[in-house]
Amino acid sequence: MKYAFKNGYVLSGNADMKPESGLCVLVSDDKIEAVVPESDANLDGYEVIDLDGGYLMPGLVNPHVHLAVAGNAPKANAKPVDYKKVFKLLSIPGVKAVMRKMEEGYVRDEVFSGVTTLRAVGGILDFDGTIRDKVNAGKIAGPRILAANTAVSVPGGHFAGSLATEAESPEMAREHVRQIHATNPDLIKLMITGGVMDATEDGEPGILRMSPDIVAAACDEAHKLGYQVAAHVESPEGVRVALENGVDTIEHGAKPDEEIIRLFKERGAADICTISPALPYCLFDLDVSHTDELGKRNGTIVMNGIIECAKMCIKEGIPVGIGTDTGCPFIRHYDMWRELIYFVKYCDVTPTFALYTATKRNAEIIGLGDVTGTIEAGKSADIIVASENPLENLKTLKDLKMVMASGKLYRGQKIKKDEYIDSVLDQYL
Ligand SMILES: [Zn+2]
Repeated sequence: MKYAFKNGYVLSGNADMKPESGLCVLVSDDKIEAVVPESDANLDGYEVIDLDGGYLMPGLVNPHVHLAVAGNAPKANAKPVDYKKVFKLLSIPGVKAVMRKMEEGYVRDEVFSGVTTLRAVGGILDFDGTIRDKVNAGKIAGPRILAANTAVSVPGGHFAGSLATEAESPEMAREHVRQIHATNPDLIKLMITGGVMDATEDGEPGILRMSPDIVAAACDEAHKLGYQVAAHVESPEGVRVALENGVDTIEHGAKPDEEIIRLFKERGAADICTISPALPYCLFDLDVSHTDELGKRNGTIVMNGIIECAKMCIKEGIPVGIGTDTGCPFIRHYDMWRELIYFVKYCDVTPTFALYTATKRNAEIIGLGDVTGTIEAGKSADIIVASENPLENLKTLKDLKMVMASGKLYRGQKIKKDEYIDSVLDQYL
């Protein structure tokens, strides 16, 4: 298929992008063929798409998603999920099929909402890789997926026994990485510190759970097999241990000191800022978040740490990406646009910088800088179109006119939204 997008404005995805008019974006199959002046374009053989004054830009890249979870609002007094039961149920083929169908719905929402590339950083068994293969085979609608499949944790660690394995020693961590390798992942995810959801004491969300020798062994094995390593880290100590022992992307982050900044630079590591998961714990009333005072205090520590880490890294020229941690409470699979707004609001960046981060910067950080993230010849045809100029109003990314992912065009795409969650979150834009 050949498409020609015309009669709108083009935003390149570069850090200095400005809306450019009079351009025609030509797409051939799954690639952007050329960006040419409209007056010069020979459109024979192209399906012409009239942008009608809309704004065309690269598809969004979300480096931090959990495809196994919906991101619903928690209910009062809800019991934690018993994952032993879940895995028992998953041994029944019918249940597995239902679970896969659910995930297929989530990836459809992701792409319909403008995410044309995502990293799945911790899921159930090999589900995320299987979904990736189905999207690639053209069987279902979805974005480009980099799948970590299941993550590596330690006994008592973050998501141990659910979205992550439990490695008790460096040797076991190597073995787990090799087992995950056998499921054909695209990266390895480690859970180095605790999180807000599993903290039982003040200040505990960032408590170091994975010992440095286990981190080092897992990273070494992953790198030998050619994988990037992403790690859940929510305290300064955790960030230091992660960077000293080979982690490539720090997911969430914590308030850095000079030593941490030096380690980021030495290692060439990136920070992935995720405000969406911390915000409900930190800012919502307790009768809305259904956490307790402890959860709120820990959520506040984490939110401040995430913001300070991103701000300091940006100031120091360290790569910073933004991701949503979709699947955490109140984060549904169509809400990447909110993270751009939070990034502007809390990290003092411009909307232009936020859009650049969500496209080109994120693509570079996850190793896809020459595949996607900008509107230029040779890149994948990953394109979204908004009604208004997002550099003046990022909210326009909420409802897109159309999405193209790897050359597949979606128009009039419908997403079933959660009105309650939307109404709660809209107060924090
Ligand atoms: Zn996560």
